Amino acid sequence: MSNILIQNGRIIDGTGTAAYPADIAIENGKIENIGTGLGTNFDSTIDATDMVVCPGFIDIHSHTDFTIADNPNAESIIRQGVTTEIVGNCGMSAAPLTTAFISQLKDRLTIESDYGKAEDIGNSWETFGEYIQYLNELPLGINLMPLVGFGTLRTAVMGLKSGAPSVDELRQMEALLEKSLEEGAAGLSTGLEYLPDSLSHGDELIKLCRVVKRQNKLYASHIRGEDQTLFPAIEEAIRCGEESGCKIQISHLKLGGHNNWGKTDQLFALLEGAMSRGVRLSWDQYPYTAWGTGLEDYIPEWVRQNGPKKTIQNLTDRVTRTKIRQEIDLAIKAGTHAYNTAAWENVQVTKFKSPEYKIFEGKRITEISAELKVDPLECVFELLTKEQGTLPILVFCMAEDDVEKIMAHPQTIIASDGKAVATYGDLHTGSPHPRYYGTFPRVLGKYVREKTILSLEAAIKKMTSMPAGVMNLQDRGVLAVDMVADITIFDPETICDVATYEDPHQYPNGIDKVIMSGAVVIDKGNHTGKMMGHII
Ligand SMILES: [Zn+2]
Repeated sequence: MSNILIQNGRIIDGTGTAAYPADIAIENGKIENIGTGLGTNFDSTIDATDMVVCPGFIDIHSHTDFTIADNPNAESIIRQGVTTEIVGNCGMSAAPLTTAFISQLKDRLTIESDYGKAEDIGNSWETFGEYIQYLNELPLGINLMPLVGFGTLRTAVMGLKSGAPSVDELRQMEALLEKSLEEGAAGLSTGLEYLPDSLSHGDELIKLCRVVKRQNKLYASHIRGEDQTLFPAIEEAIRCGEESGCKIQISHLKLGGHNNWGKTDQLFALLEGAMSRGVRLSWDQYPYTAWGTGLEDYIPEWVRQNGPKKTIQNLTDRVTRTKIRQEIDLAIKAGTHAYNTAAWENVQVTKFKSPEYKIFEGKRITEISAELKVDPLECVFELLTKEQGTLPILVFCMAEDDVEKIMAHPQTIIASDGKAVATYGDLHTGSPHPRYYGTFPRVLGKYVREKTILSLEAAIKKMTSMPAGVMNLQDRGVLAVDMVADITIFDPETICDVATYEDPHQYPNGIDKVIMSGAVVIDKGNHTGKMMGHII
């Protein structure tokens, strides 16, 4: 492996320490030295004049496991300067699968999301260890740390049954979790807002968190509600940490829905109070005011509970459809429906499978319903029926002021909640959330340079050493001798996101080079084709 000298850059080491001028010598994929006068005996030299040189970013909340098999370059992510991603978030992982519930698991994995090669699912792996082996055999353009998803784990043991697990089912879940963690899962994730995770009860999670604690890994919680039930949902996550002693990461923290806008003081009081009691708590955020979810969130859970086929049956049966409609109307009047968080004009559809609806990608529900000449709720039923019960959407439901205040909190970690896509090929489809392309450069451009909400050093710490600390990553996240040479070099004067809600498939500006394990992967906007990723 060649050795490289990075010269004349401004080093921001990831710890929050002030920037300083120095050179970095890389040898055998590791940082060999940092300083000045490091000699001339190098195979190649990178001139980083006017550039910031910092650790490769670590994205603690990603879904790139959905797409990595389709395009191992992971370009929308690595071109942001990210070199490591924590995947398997929001309760969704591709393993473990059990033969007893393989059809339900396959349904869920191929319809709710898209784990790349659908035909591989369930054929290649049943255990987490086999899944990791499968990933290890793929060429990987990025480092991945996979979590085990609670939704997968629960379905593997008890199918889509609601209610508390039996003593035996709980024991099986604990054993399957323990085995998955032993076989390399970095922790447990939940998506408690979504089926089947939403069928669970708090006590079963505390018991699973005790397993996570024993192995000193992480529980990443997409909490049970992010709008009307936000505060009790945060309390539930805190209780899991408090009663089990395990580390808790609250995923994509936000104040969703206008009823919560302006409540950052209350939010921080709750979080800081838990930390002061010794709860091992951290959280992450993406720098946008829209979230990404499924349109199915707007219809009652019982309609969807028994899988996509039953959902479509429910939506097409005239009597059932009327009943669903009445229930939604009542919930809206009571103020407890998703509509009360974001009305139809704030809901944008990102991607259709049906060719006849492709023209509606990137449009709001109000616009689509006007074109289809039906009222918005009929439109929602129609779209969900045609799209097999699930449809990705963006929901504009946060206040910019809150986003800024949460970002400025010293404990907030930056994460994308995105997944790797690309401006070409199979992953160049639909109108995805711009965070897939823009998260990290957006923070450095919009919030550091333009709005001066954070210093460059503080922002980079939130992208590097802080997530590394949460994940127990000892050899990444800081620029220091003997660390793995995962390094991002960017221009602080020009770095910015380019992806927008209207035109998301655009790579950011200002990332000069991305180096992984000592090899240049992104070089002035070009992917060099080097596949340097590993499963960590
Ligand atoms: Zn989530």
